[in-house]
Amino acid sequence: MKFGYVSLLPETAVVARFIEELKNNRLMGTQCKKCGKKHLPPRAHCTCGSSEVEWFEAPRQGRLLAYTIVTFLPESMTKYAPYIIAIAELDDGCRLLAHISDVTPKNLKVDMRVQVVPHQIAADRMACKFKPL
Ligand SMILES: [Zn+2]
Repeated sequence: MKFGYVSLLPETAVVARFIEELKNNRLMGTQCKKCGKKHLPPRAHCTCGSSEVEWFEAPRQGRLLAYTIVTFLPESMTKYAPYIIAIAELDDGCRLLAHISDVTPKNLKVDMRVQVVPHQIAADRMACKFKPL
């Protein structure tokens, strides 16, 4: 099982667990035991150099920080066009990049409340997306 529309993340044990948790409706990240930084999607190693990380469950709600409507895109993504890519800040401060659905460009607003929804793209591909609350 892969994560994302294109393989943005390597197929590691950490990513495999992230995908399994998503399938069970849990959004899991890792937090560094040394500096406290949270990583979502999870990472096995922190940017501070430590590999002592522990799993945490991230909140599934947050607010829209930024978005862009994608109309010109690479060949591999043409079947999804047009789509909207968004960055949301979850209620614990983690930031996540994902597609947003169930909105139109007219009712999209920065700061609007969104929820994170697990999203199976294909038999071997899992992702998450935002929906308005
Ligand atoms: Zn760290």
